[in-house]
Amino acid sequence: MLIQNLAKKKNWLFDLDNTLYSPNLGIFSQIDQRMKKFISKKLELSETKSFKLQKNFYKKYGTTLYGLMKHYEVDPQEFCNYVHDINLKNLKHSKILRSKLQALPGRKIVYTNGDYKYAKKILRRLGIEDQFLDIFDITKSNYIPKPMKSSLNKLIKQYELNPLETAYFDDLEKNLMSASLKGFTTIHISEKSSGESQSHIDFRFKTVINALDMISKVL
Ligand SMILES: [Mg+2]
Repeated sequence: MLIQNLAKKKNWLFDLDNTLYSPNLGIFSQIDQRMKKFISKKLELSETKSFKLQKNFYKKYGTTLYGLMKHYEVDPQEFCNYVHDINLKNLKHSKILRSKLQALPGRKIVYTNGDYKYAKKILRRLGIEDQFLDIFDITKSNYIPKPMKSSLNKLIKQYELNPLETAYFDDLEKNLMSASLKGFTTIHISEKSSGESQSHIDFRFKTVINALDMISKVL
């Protein structure tokens, strides 16, 4: 696909964690640790066993939370409050990200497996919270996470999105799969390039700023 095709898009979906900020800032790794602690306390398991369970659920369902709700009836709000209680000092206002987002015409929506309160906090730290029409968080999809199709379907319905008019940025290739099948243009954000090209990835960039920079040149 040619980058020029992006100039016609009317909607832009952005994953939050490790997409709108770099994984090197150590934000999501803190959440990972908090999840392990939460499971260990709640289910009275060793940290090693907790971590295994956490990762199994994550792989199987898309979020650890979904597995905990399904198999252990964990209260999702309690989980979210606990795991999102982290240090955000590494996140700073980004004037460049802000101006690149501002230059994008059309609707901008955050699409995250996190919860609204947390997403809002992250966007505020980055100084970009006013750039988005809305945050489609895990509560809006009834805790059904990406990459499950019903999460995406709910989002499409909520904003009456035409996939052909929408580009979607995410750092996880598996989240882009169902979106690609629906006709979204997919943009993978990753500092490590995986080398081989995959048919469900239309574009790859190291950072979201790189991506927006390229797009701004064709607008
Ligand atoms: Mg992410």
